[in-house]
Amino acid sequence: MQHEQHHWETRAVHGGNAGLRDAGSHVPPIDLSTTFPLPDVERGGQSYEELAGGGDLPREGSAVYQRLWQPGVARFEEALADLEGADGSVAFASGMAALTACLIATVSAGKPHVVAVRPLYGGTDHVLESGLLGTEVSWTTPDDIARHLRPDTGLVIVETPANPTLELVDIAAVAVQAGDVPVLVDNTFATPVLQRPIEHGATLVLHSATKYLGGHGDVMGGVIAGPRDWVERLRRVRALTGALLHPFAAYLLHRGLRTLAVRVRAQQETAGILAERMSAHDAVARVFYPGLPGQDPRGLLGRQLAGPGAIIAIDLAGGYDAAARFTEACDLVTHAVSLGGVDSLVQHPASLTHRPVAGEAKPGAGIVRLSIGLEHVDDLAADLFRALDAAQSLTPAASVVEFPSDVVEHA
Ligand SMILES: *Cc1c(COP(=O)(O)O)cnc(C)c1O
Repeated sequence: MQHEQHHWETRAVHGGNAGLRDAGSHVPPIDLSTTFPLPDVERGGQSYEELAGGGDLPREGSAVYQRLWQPGVARFEEALADLEGADGSVAFASGMAALTACLIATVSAGKPHVVAVRPLYGGTDHVLESGLLGTEVSWTTPDDIARHLRPDTGLVIVETPANPTLELVDIAAVAVQAGDVPVLVDNTFATPVLQRPIEHGATLVLHSATKYLGGHGDVMGGVIAGPRDWVERLRRVRALTGALLHPFAAYLLHRGLRTLAVRVRAQQETAGILAERMSAHDAVARVFYPGLPGQDPRGLLGRQLAGPGAIIAIDLAGGYDAAARFTEACDLVTHAVSLGGVDSLVQHPASLTHRPVAGEAKPGAGIVRLSIGLEHVDDLAADLFRALDAAQSLTPAASVVEFPSDVVEHA
C-alpha cells in the first residue's frame, strides 16, 4: 500500500512497512543475523561494493553483513525520513554517534570548520569545543552566522528549541545566512510532530532517538535525516566506524514512531498547564517555556514550531541550593538525566548534562530542567509544588547566591 497521500499521523503508524503484508507479517520482524547468505560470488562482491559505497540494498543481491545493511534498521530509517520530509535517514547507536558521523564526514571532505550557535546539548558543545574529531568551531549567534563563514566551513549547527533553556532559533533565517553551507538542526526537543526543519531550509536533521522517538526510556539511538548525497556519505562512515543501531533498538524506535504524535501532544498539553502554574510560585525567578508570554520574540510558534513542546526549565530564585533542594524533593518526578519519555524527569543541567560547557555558556546554577511525561497533570502539579515549597525556604530576600566550589571549578 502507498501512503504518500495520507496524513502525517497515518504515515507515522504505517511507515516502513513495505512488503510486510505479502510476507504474511503484521509487524516488522527482528532479524538478528550478523551475516547474510550470498547468492553467488559475483553478486556477493557487487553487493559488498554497493553497500560499502553507501548505496541501497541491491535488488538481486545480499545485505552481506550487518555493519553494511540491516533490514529492520532500514525500515526505521525509511519511516523517520518520511516524517521529516527527507530523502533518507541513517541511524546510529546513539545521538552522539550520529553527530560524530556528520563531523567525520565534514572533516573528511576537507571542510573541518564548523559554525555553531549556543546553547547546544552539552555533549555536542563538548565534542565541538574539544576539537576531538578534527573540527574547529566558531561560536556565534543566529544573526551573525554569515560573518563567520570561511571557504573551509563544512557545517552550521543549531538546536531549536535549545537545551536547556528552550531559546528558539529561526531556521529559515539561519539557512539564508549559511548559503551553500549545509545546516544541521538538532530536532530532538521538538520531534517531527512539532517541527520539520527541512521544510524551513535545513539540510540535515539530528535526533537523539533515545528521547522522544523511543519515548519509553529503554532504548538508545541516534539518526540523521537528509538529502541523498549525505545519506550515502553517512552510511559509508557508519560502515567503516561501526556505530550501528542494534536490530532490537531499531524495532523499538520504529514502534515508538507509531505513538509519537499522541505522546508529544499529550505531554505538551500537561507541560503548558504546569509552566503557567509554576510561574506564579514565589520560589521561581523565571520559567523558560516557549508557550509563555514574551518567550517567542520572533513569532516562530505556529510558523516553524507547531507547539511549545513538553520540556520546561525553571530558574529558582534561591540559586544552586534551591535547585538542589527542589530536585531532591521531587518524588513522582524522577531525578535523572534524559528526556522525552512517558514518565517525568528532572535534572540540574549545570552540574550534569552541561557540566563540560565553558563558563560563560553554562546554564545558571539555579536552573533545573523538567521533561514532562504522561502522568496526570494534578499528580505532577502536587509533586512539583511540594518541591517548590521545599525550595522556597532557600529563596533569599535579595538574590545574592553563592556557587558551591565544585560548580565554580567547572565553570
Ligand atoms: C541526548 C541528546 C543528544 C545526545 O544523544 P544521545 O542519544 O544521548 O547520544 C543530542 N542532542 C540533544 C538535544 C539531546 O537531548
